Amino acid sequence: MSDSTKYVYRFGPTGTEGAAGMKNLLGGKGANLAEMCRLGISVPSGFTISTEACTVFTEKGKAHVMAMLDTEVRQGLAYVEQQMGKRFGNADDPLLLSVRSGARASMPGMMDTILNLGLNDEAVAGLARKAGNERFAWDSYRRFVQMYGDVVMGLKPVSKEEHDPFEVVIDMLKEKKGVQLDTELDTADLKELVARFKALIRARIGRDFPTDPWEQLWGAVAAVFESWNNDRAQVYRELNDIPQSWGTAVNVQAMVFGNLGNSSATGVAFSRDAGTGEDLFNGEFLVNAQGEDVVAGIRTPQQVTLIGSRRWAELAMVSEADRAANYPSLEELMPEIYQQLLHAETALENHFKDMQDLEFTIQEGRLWMLQTRNGKRTGAAMVRIAMEMQRQGMIDEKTALERVSPERLNDLLHPIFAPGAIKAAKIIARGLPASPGAATGQIVFHADDAEQWVHEGKAVILVRQETSPEDLRGMSVAKGILTARGGMTSHAAVVARGMGKCCVSGAGAVHVDLKARVMRVGDQSWAEGDWISLNGSTGEVYDGQIATQEAELSGDFGALMALAAKYQRLQVRANADTPTDAAVARRFGATGIGLCRTEHMFFEGERILAVREMILADDEAGRRKALAKLLPIQRADFEGLFRVMDGLPVVIRLLDPPLHEFVPHDDAGQAVMAREMRVSPAKIKMRVEDLHEFNPMLGHRGCRLGITYPEITEMQARAIIEAALNVRAEGKKVMVEIMVPLVGTVREFNAQAMVIRKAADQVFQQRGETIHYMLGTMIETPRGALVAESIGRQAEFFSFGTNDLTQMTMGFSRDDAGKFLPDYLKQGMYEQDPFRSIDQKGVGLLVQMAVQKGRTVRPEIEIGICGEHGGDPTSVAFFHRAGLDYVSCSPFRVPIARLAAAQAALAG
Ligand code: ADP
Ligand code: MG
Ligand code: MG
Repeated sequence: MSDSTKYVYRFGPTGTEGAAGMKNLLGGKGANLAEMCRLGISVPSGFTISTEACTVFTEKGKAHVMAMLDTEVRQGLAYVEQQMGKRFGNADDPLLLSVRSGARASMPGMMDTILNLGLNDEAVAGLARKAGNERFAWDSYRRFVQMYGDVVMGLKPVSKEEHDPFEVVIDMLKEKKGVQLDTELDTADLKELVARFKALIRARIGRDFPTDPWEQLWGAVAAVFESWNNDRAQVYRELNDIPQSWGTAVNVQAMVFGNLGNSSATGVAFSRDAGTGEDLFNGEFLVNAQGEDVVAGIRTPQQVTLIGSRRWAELAMVSEADRAANYPSLEELMPEIYQQLLHAETALENHFKDMQDLEFTIQEGRLWMLQTRNGKRTGAAMVRIAMEMQRQGMIDEKTALERVSPERLNDLLHPIFAPGAIKAAKIIARGLPASPGAATGQIVFHADDAEQWVHEGKAVILVRQETSPEDLRGMSVAKGILTARGGMTSHAAVVARGMGKCCVSGAGAVHVDLKARVMRVGDQSWAEGDWISLNGSTGEVYDGQIATQEAELSGDFGALMALAAKYQRLQVRANADTPTDAAVARRFGATGIGLCRTEHMFFEGERILAVREMILADDEAGRRKALAKLLPIQRADFEGLFRVMDGLPVVIRLLDPPLHEFVPHDDAGQAVMAREMRVSPAKIKMRVEDLHEFNPMLGHRGCRLGITYPEITEMQARAIIEAALNVRAEGKKVMVEIMVPLVGTVREFNAQAMVIRKAADQVFQQRGETIHYMLGTMIETPRGALVAESIGRQAEFFSFGTNDLTQMTMGFSRDDAGKFLPDYLKQGMYEQDPFRSIDQKGVGLLVQMAVQKGRTVRPEIEIGICGEHGGDPTSVAFFHRAGLDYVSCSPFRVPIARLAAAQAALAG
């Protein structure tokens, strides 16, 4: 190999080559293992094979990579042998290894770790002699054969109803022996298991389990690289926007053993509470266990801290005596080790200045750290930890703002049960409060069914024994997740928190019968499709459907929003049509209404009659008669909005949609309308047919309505101005902005402006008072953007209607794009769904250009955007850079957009 690239980096008590800053090359796990070594924390020695080797593997295959890495891996292993004083492949006192994957971003459960590598029939005897513990040696061996068989030799089941074939063998043996726990199996049983496992492998794939340690090692390394491309890893990457090209690193590390007896253990811990953000060290562990036993839900894990243990006991309804005797905390059980762990936890959190998620193993009274990383957390915990660390002086304001991903604020806005509804609710089981929020839905037992049912418009709760990465898609669409097994760090819990989804885990009383599609608790049962409800904040499971309501906003949330306000330049308004929506928007800190769609008010109750009468009228006189009925209704609506928005601007858009949207298209609907209108059904039918358009999106809508029927504009302008005067008379400050939609030429704007001004002047004359109002336009046709200079000379404000601007610029309608857009995205025609995140290179160019043209002719022109994109963090950052004054989005996205705006300002 002429390749002189360095692929292997050592870590250990001396000679560590990596560091935390090298995540791209070493993956998160490898970089942090190296960093812990640098901090003098006790970590088993090892080396990391870089992500660049993964890329070579994907391109050139296993043989090539083995040859390429051979020398470096041998040198790395020699280093580990020297550190540990043991030899790899030596039968008397074998060095055993773990082979662990680790990408740049942590991907829980995506890549499989292999433990105890290097064992075979000879080495197991040596290990037993050396440790003076035969059971331990065979326990390690059977775990190794199982993991290797699953991951490298491909015995891991593919279908969801199948169990791991090795687990089936274990269960059979346990049943035969009449025992419940793995720990109750003796040495002879474990030997039996190893024999049966090997036979199983031979029978399934026609090959023997490899006995040569080097063959085992290369097989494991290749399997890690291959796992980067497996389906479940790809699903996770898709959900989390992680590029395929990053690759994973491989960590090869000396084993330490948590299964050496009762002074050994393995566990996970968090420097703060990942669910609530509380500054409280917490975690779970299992005595005499190895690897992922803690998260696999095999035994009930114990709590690391005493306070955590007491809290757990209360939730699990375990008495203090029972707890202290059977589930003592690490703090009580191994006080010295606990102090060391606490010390490491504090040192690591102070070093990384973020909440740490730790993995550790205790081997015969000695603590080893196996992993540290910035912990995943709920949105609520994200906010609380950021704000508390800022108050504690650990991080500054800017860092605190950057710590919270805007999208995750959604978690805080999660629903809770309506207090009235919950009083009558019946608790059927309790589990762990794995991920907060309240959820109500119909039971499904399979992830695929969850997807299907949600597709059909149902709300579902996914109920599983435990979840696995195969369930990701189903989990992501369910309202909530309930598992019968698993702790706070189980797959379901970790993934649900990551998704901000309600989850109750480890509800031990719940029995899941997958085949019968039934969930049993005691002698009661619930079938697929039955309703249940979950409280992910308390762990309670309820019978039936329970009404939910929006969450209260906590103090830290308020503090975060205040910080955002301090740094954001781009303002955030809301799209709101009703006083209720406007009130929500205000509560979330919207600094105005950026879009009130007047037509949304037309559908309610009796109003639609007047609207239809207007549409059906044969002439202007008829229309005016109907409009006169609408005037007081609209005026009252506007008054409501102005009252709520006291002191903040309100942008009101004139009637926009094509009129056919207001009339029924089916015979039955038309018959009802005919009766209501007291005309013949035939007449209705004719008029509806008249309104039919081949392409309504490009048809008679927007200001085109006001151009052909100026009396509509006139009525709306009058309603707005009268409402403004009325609310001002109540002592409120009213700031009106009237917006003309769908303008393509300045002449359209001028014509509408004339009608509006005339109507306003008439009101002023009648009332003998005036009020200031602004007159502006939407920029939502490409032509409007192109001629923004001439429009800007007349209009006092622009608001980009990016939904229409996207449709018209790209030349596809949002309603039809579903047919091809998924394929387009898959094939990379466009990087993102342009209706979700603004197409910066195309549509964005029109925005930038129109801003520049508008500002040239009218430097003080107010510019905003009111499309769907106003609530998308990436788009918000773009609009900040484009120099807009505000974005406007749905009320519930206001906090998200505000944080995104602040982050954009910090990014400069
Ligand atoms: P994941 O990426 O899924 O967290 P890890 O590589 O961290 O996987 O491995 C899972 C678990 O295996 C660890 O939490 C630890 O308990 C165990 N493990 C990994 N390496 C070692 C080791 N060198 N000695 C003992 N246990 C190990
Ligand atoms: Mg794992
Ligand atoms: Mg880990």
